[in-house]
Amino acid sequence: MSAVVQSIDAHSAAEQELTDGFHLVIDALKLNGINTIYGVPGIPITDLGRFAQAAGIRVISFRHEQHAGNAAAIAGFLTRKPGICLTVSAPGFLNGLTALANATTNCFPMILISGSSEREIVDLQQGDYEEMDQLAVAKPLCKAAFRVLHAADIGIGVARAIRAAVSGRPGGVYLDLPAKLFSQVMTAEAGAKSLVKVIDAAPAQIPAPNSIKRALDVLKGAKRPLIILGKGAAYAQADDEIRALVEKSGIPFLPMSMAKGLLPDTHPQSAGAARSTVLKEADVVLLIGARLNWLLSHGKGKTWGEPGSKKFIQIDIEPKEMDSNVEIVAPVVGDIGSCVSALLAGMGDNWPSPPAGWTGAINAKKEENIAKMAPRLMKNTAPMDFHGALGALRTVIKERPDAILVNEGANTLDLARGVIDMYKPRKRLDVGTWGVMGIGMGYAIAAAIETGKPVLAVEGDSAFGFSGMEVETICRYNLPVCVVIFNNNGIYRGTDVNPSGGADAATTVFVKDARYDKMMEAFGGVGIHVTTPDELKRAVDQALDSGKPTLINAAIDPAAGTESGRIGNLNPQSVVKKKKK
Ligand code: ADP
Ligand code: MG
Repeated sequence: MSAVVQSIDAHSAAEQELTDGFHLVIDALKLNGINTIYGVPGIPITDLGRFAQAAGIRVISFRHEQHAGNAAAIAGFLTRKPGICLTVSAPGFLNGLTALANATTNCFPMILISGSSEREIVDLQQGDYEEMDQLAVAKPLCKAAFRVLHAADIGIGVARAIRAAVSGRPGGVYLDLPAKLFSQVMTAEAGAKSLVKVIDAAPAQIPAPNSIKRALDVLKGAKRPLIILGKGAAYAQADDEIRALVEKSGIPFLPMSMAKGLLPDTHPQSAGAARSTVLKEADVVLLIGARLNWLLSHGKGKTWGEPGSKKFIQIDIEPKEMDSNVEIVAPVVGDIGSCVSALLAGMGDNWPSPPAGWTGAINAKKEENIAKMAPRLMKNTAPMDFHGALGALRTVIKERPDAILVNEGANTLDLARGVIDMYKPRKRLDVGTWGVMGIGMGYAIAAAIETGKPVLAVEGDSAFGFSGMEVETICRYNLPVCVVIFNNNGIYRGTDVNPSGGADAATTVFVKDARYDKMMEAFGGVGIHVTTPDELKRAVDQALDSGKPTLINAAIDPAAGTESGRIGNLNPQSVVKKKKK
């Protein structure tokens, strides 16, 4: 505290240039290469946003903190720099916290910076404006949480937050800034000295040589090897090394949804169209930045064939991930770039191709499945079903592989994941590890801001509802975002009826034939209503060519769609109901 104004006598203060908490936070972020903040202004951080904008940081103001938080999280995924979300105290903080927890769950680096009320009042629970012990609330939901009380500690606080977010397994960090901090004053000179530029924020983590040898020995003995690429592999930005490993080994690969495009889905070694076959039959599975969680049936059960029929090799930066669900016979702990390079080096020049019987069987299965799907994707009828509509969007992405696809919903998500091929890394952003709804507009906005590329957000009508108000944000910043709503009048389907026979709508249906396109028009964007796949394709092309904010309301058959999409098995079933039948 020696440097705060209280200790500076009036004489020297008048002579020396001063800075304060507001400016130190901004300078600390800028010093560390942070050039964008996502947030919602209000007490006590309104001026922080203003001053940040004045200082050349891009400040994107949202309508709700959850979407600003989701934007920050996906900015972190896309750039490997922590995405910053700025919120007001208690309620704004809590709104942002959902996104912070989601970022942590998905291993995306993000920092939630929230203003808070005064410690003295909060700790005595005397009822301050928006009083809440935010640090305590945030702690269990993120990777690290810090509070800065003195302006002189802002530099260290920001540095710790950045390092915590991006080093090791990335995740969400909470930084608590009480209101009083912002107006604390220091001399500009002392302030500048107090800032910390983080050196090597995410240091390489080199795998142990014996772990590489062990992994290669297991891989070499495989008769039916498989590589699974997860979003950690996409995040790592080791695209060339990963491609080299896949191609040199000749091993078929399966991308998890956000790893699609790391190698093109049309790559001859892609086993995407033979997913269930390869999971069931593989004898050695190399996991690269993918966890054996529910999305991979925990590495066991029916999906994985005969019990004991698999050996798992896992590359992950987090040692505790090993053996989380099943035994990992060859754990390789380190950053993906270093691990994959080490494996490549260890493979030498004469690595044997996998047995032709295995790759041949996969190719036959792929061809069979692709042929089965093809006619469904070409159906050009009204009302559209999911496959017909997705067939049109599949062509759009094929013609525009640089566009970023954001995708959420139930059926809209499950089916789009399988139908729409991706061609480039980090172009598919979706509901991730939680399978959460509500990421759509936040992810779309950050994708446009961070990459400057056109964004196509394919949304179920239900999923869109969680973040729909952010179409105003899209229009306000004039972003090249095209939102397509698969509108089947409800959640899963639009055909449910109230079982009591009463006047209230059924719990899963929405207003019939709603015109979401009018929402975009309300804010000056383009709204289009379409009823056939041909119309849909034309409308999306028009939107992406123009770069104008566009919302396309795609009328889908209300009877199309299944309960919970592909994860209906996770819905508890009532025994009572079954007995009555
Ligand atoms: P998916 O859902 O696509 O299967 P997950 O989110 O389950 O992917 O897994 C991602 C994994 O990648 C996490 O276990 C995380 O620790 C790991 N990871 C993230 N970044 C890196 C990195 N740079 N190097 C190594 N592992 C990483
Ligand atoms: Mg729906």
